[in-house]
Amino acid sequence: MTRIVVATGNQGKLKEIKDIFGNDLYEVVSMKECGISSDPDETGATFEENALIKARAVAELVPDSVVLADDSGLEVDALNKEPGIYSARYMGEDTSYDIKNANILERMEGVLEEKRTARFVCAMAAILPASGKANPKEVVVRGVMEGRIGYEIKGENGFGYDPIFFLPEYNMTSAELSAQEKNAISHRGAAIRLMRHELSRRRI
Ligand code: IMP
Repeated sequence: MTRIVVATGNQGKLKEIKDIFGNDLYEVVSMKECGISSDPDETGATFEENALIKARAVAELVPDSVVLADDSGLEVDALNKEPGIYSARYMGEDTSYDIKNANILERMEGVLEEKRTARFVCAMAAILPASGKANPKEVVVRGVMEGRIGYEIKGENGFGYDPIFFLPEYNMTSAELSAQEKNAISHRGAAIRLMRHELSRRRI
């Protein structure tokens, strides 16, 4: 059985990864369960670079395990792809999402419907242990969920920017979807499924 250590302290992410990887072939555990902690500075310029920074930092501590880490955020086309990799840090890490979301809606005032396109992006990185003389291998995938910035804050589910992220095909925001409905179409769900495929293709 392959042990996968997930470089996150977020229980929701851990559960989503466990659900998609299943427990027949993989033992998915958190950093905490391995008795380690890691919080490197996210100095990358892209989601992929930041996911790799987080995964590499943990892989140094558990070199015999597969390590997974992700980095995600919201890109708003009319705002030059902001907040992007700064999604958690936008207006300050401790600022509430009611305030962050209201600020984005304000900046989008007057922007026409067809220009309100946006997407959630999730990059997921895996570090595969070194085997023999070969160095550790790195795999990176990206999942996206396309939508639009709405005109008001709407919905009680989800977190972060979900209440302003409108999905035209559902005629609701991602904060109005159930967790199950969102996981089936989300950027993170897509990235996790792609990663599972990439690992099984490499017989891991
Ligand atoms: P991280 O990848 O956990 O660092 O998350 C980055 C930030 O992106 C979160 O703090 C949220 O602001 C935003 N974000 C990522 N995924 C979602 C989502 O599914 N819904 C709402 N906001 C999200």
